[in-house]
Amino acid sequence: MSLLKPDYRFDKITDIKAEDLKKAGAKLLLLDADNTLSFHGSQTPFPGVPEWISEIKKSGFELVIISNNSERRIKPFAENLGLPFVYESAKPLPKGFKKAAENFGISPKETAVIGDQLFTDVLGGKIFGSKVFLTEPLGPETDFFIKVKRKIEKFIR
Ligand SMILES: [Mg+2]
Repeated sequence: MSLLKPDYRFDKITDIKAEDLKKAGAKLLLLDADNTLSFHGSQTPFPGVPEWISEIKKSGFELVIISNNSERRIKPFAENLGLPFVYESAKPLPKGFKKAAENFGISPKETAVIGDQLFTDVLGGKIFGSKVFLTEPLGPETDFFIKVKRKIEKFIR
């Protein structure tokens, strides 16, 4: 078993269907935030993400946001989406995953980690013993690119 090999790959989180999660044997989903649910540090989820969350919840899955980012970034974001959360989770270490899963009584084998980063989400999910869904990072890893783009846009206008 490779610790850096996801079990499943999708372009976007919204491409993952309840059926895919059921087939993987997942009941609890641990969701990365930055570049998985929104651009890095952004409070605005990607298009379709709030609808995807309510659809997946309706299908009976438990969802928790798990992020290495700060309380200031994650708390309002998760509350806005109506999800429990763990911030400063120290992925790939198992402690954040344990904390996220502890209230549900669901085993790591019945847990799916969904995220865009190999060395945090995939490695962490594999160490924890869960199924891993890797998505394509939907934005740059920092705000730098966005800031540069804004400056260029201003210049053009
Ligand atoms: Mg990420």
